[in-house]
Amino acid sequence: MKAAKAVPVLMYHHVSPNPGLVTVAPQTFEYQMAQLAAKGYTALTADRFLAFLGGEAEVPEKSVLITFDDAYLDNYVYAYPILQRHGLHAVIFAVSGWIGEGACRPHAGEASAADLPACPNHRRCTLAIQDGRADEVMLRWAEIGRMEADGTMEIHSHTHSHLRWDKLHPDRGERLARVAEDLRRSRETLRQRLGRADRHLCWPWGYFEPEYLDAATQAGFAAQYSVAKGINRRGGDPRQIYRMVVKDRCGNWLASRLWIYRRPLLGALYLKLRGK
Ligand SMILES: [Zn+2]
Repeated sequence: MKAAKAVPVLMYHHVSPNPGLVTVAPQTFEYQMAQLAAKGYTALTADRFLAFLGGEAEVPEKSVLITFDDAYLDNYVYAYPILQRHGLHAVIFAVSGWIGEGACRPHAGEASAADLPACPNHRRCTLAIQDGRADEVMLRWAEIGRMEADGTMEIHSHTHSHLRWDKLHPDRGERLARVAEDLRRSRETLRQRLGRADRHLCWPWGYFEPEYLDAATQAGFAAQYSVAKGINRRGGDPRQIYRMVVKDRCGNWLASRLWIYRRPLLGALYLKLRGK
């Protein structure tokens, strides 16, 4: 086996037929996942990716980490059956305070289009959450349980409440205390619901201050994911994990970017030329 020198981390939010910000159409997602499978990519678990970063494990040359932010209902309705069909694995960073109770709703792998729950666009999802109707647009614990049970998805922390503490708390001491408390609540909620201690944290909006990184480490998060562009090479910093935004594009777009992001020197040059 040729071992990977760098592993690209893909960032998705919505997979939905309703166009909007940060949304990939189900047909595009199907195309992209089929392409990954056809080209022989291994979709890592978060722990295996972390072991690669730390130099403790080798992973196949063509490895990738697939991630979703926020834990929208459409991840279950549209993305989950596609990943399952291609035998690919992905990570959902969930806002633990937004996950609902109740039974699993139907997904596209088992129900006809008319019977699927509405999956509104990003703006409408944001409004629903603000209105206290998060359950209409976000995942439920039962759906998370089902996706984890067959090994298709794994859930990690995107904090408990997805706040911009810097805008809410000008006082630095107060702000850091709130961040620490939120991370503790998120980790405790996931521990109670999923029965394990979470080690992977994704910062909301990719925003963090240097002290946040220490707060997360102290809370028990070994891996911290940003929205910055960069190359995740072996021996890289697990508190600065880079991700690439996946666009709603078919053709060679994804494959060509993965080819670049798997090559540390070429990838760094590419990002430099693009001013990142
Ligand atoms: Zn988010």
